[in-house]
Amino acid sequence: MNKVNKILIKDAAAVVSCDADDTVYRDVDILIEGSRILGIGKGLSADGAEQLSAEGRFIYPGLVNTHHHFFQTFVRNLTAVDFPNMSVIQWLDEIYEIFKLISSEAIYYSSLTAMADLIKHGCTCAFDHQYCYPRSAGKELVDRQMEAASLLGMRYHAGRGVNTLPRSEGSTIPDEMLETTDEFLSDCDRLIDLYHDDKPFSMSQIVVAPCQPVNSYRDTFVESAALARDKGVRLHSHLGEGENAPMEERWGMRSLDWCEEIGFAGPDVWYAHGWEFSAGELERMARRGTGLSHCPAPAVLGGFPILDIPAIDRMGLSLSLGCDGSATNDGSNLLDSLRMAYLMQCFHSKERGGSPSPYRMLKAATVGGADHLGRPDLGSLEPGKAADLFMIDTEVLELAGAVHDPANLLPRVAVTGPVALTMINGKVVWENGELTGVDERALFHAAEAACDDSIRDKVEHFTKPGFPE
Ligand SMILES: [Zn+2]
Repeated sequence: MNKVNKILIKDAAAVVSCDADDTVYRDVDILIEGSRILGIGKGLSADGAEQLSAEGRFIYPGLVNTHHHFFQTFVRNLTAVDFPNMSVIQWLDEIYEIFKLISSEAIYYSSLTAMADLIKHGCTCAFDHQYCYPRSAGKELVDRQMEAASLLGMRYHAGRGVNTLPRSEGSTIPDEMLETTDEFLSDCDRLIDLYHDDKPFSMSQIVVAPCQPVNSYRDTFVESAALARDKGVRLHSHLGEGENAPMEERWGMRSLDWCEEIGFAGPDVWYAHGWEFSAGELERMARRGTGLSHCPAPAVLGGFPILDIPAIDRMGLSLSLGCDGSATNDGSNLLDSLRMAYLMQCFHSKERGGSPSPYRMLKAATVGGADHLGRPDLGSLEPGKAADLFMIDTEVLELAGAVHDPANLLPRVAVTGPVALTMINGKVVWENGELTGVDERALFHAAEAACDDSIRDKVEHFTKPGFPE
């Protein structure tokens, strides 16, 4: 019989557990067996366990990212199609002309790029909304992402997205990026059979995630909900991000009414953004148990209203955190989004009667994310839960005077650089500046070449003024 690997993390200066009692441990050890945390306490020991020193380090639960578009890491730092100076609909109209160039190879390397950024900044479980299906790239794009996740050791939930409505009927999607509802459903079926593992400590799951109501037929959403419920997987889409005017014009109803009417709502559904929801709509979501992924970077970059999180908390609406992007964030650093989310709340604190605590935002990025992805085994550090965690070094000069409050530290003081160590499912995937088991420099050059081949050599937006040929 195989011996299960044990790891004993010794002498952590603090462990911020994010458990239901908000326990912050001081000077403790964590014992891990295989994928699972066995215990947290003082003076733990275990025969034959590999020891890992956490002296001078704070340990946090791995962050859970609930909205992203990995493929867009190859469509970033692009001021020629400038999100801050366009409406979402105008921007979609132009940016899809670039999205349609994405190849299968670009999906693989852009996913590696995003996941590496996430891992280096404490994220251990990522959801990606992969709705980019140019006809020329084939159908096996989530498969390429699964390959990338397995190379880096990322816990990955893939949202299989789609757009079905042609431009001639009012969408912003080029014809070569459309699929039929049947094509979409059969690929969801295939992916669920291949990759969806709903057991505890699962490393891969599938979410049925049509991109947004304004760019698909109604049937696509109706059938998505039916398939997801039949298969026992979750549902996701963009909602409340500027689509209400065209939805009212087309359907005579707001997008949340539209989704609720067709059953694309409830505890197995979470939406991204939501800055356009009214207070009444947010209350309805809270009552139904529908979740909301807050994506602070695109809200700031696009100049959109900032969610009223104190009000959302009073309603009892479940909230998580997403990077989004990278064409509307430009990075995949969830620690950075965590601080941005906190500062954005403070900006409105006087008019809203206070801001949430920094720690409240950390809980959105941990237990909130685990809730939306349906992962009771993730989000907090407790015996029985998955060994997904990250450590930061605190004995560094820039943190002197700030280490007395580990729970509030990350959003308030801004630890946004690479963390000291990231562990996923009991395995160290990032430590001492290295991604375990990969040659990062070689991957960087391969990724740059894939980006050139797929996009940059074909689009004049990427010409580099000042760079001699
Ligand atoms: Zn998005």
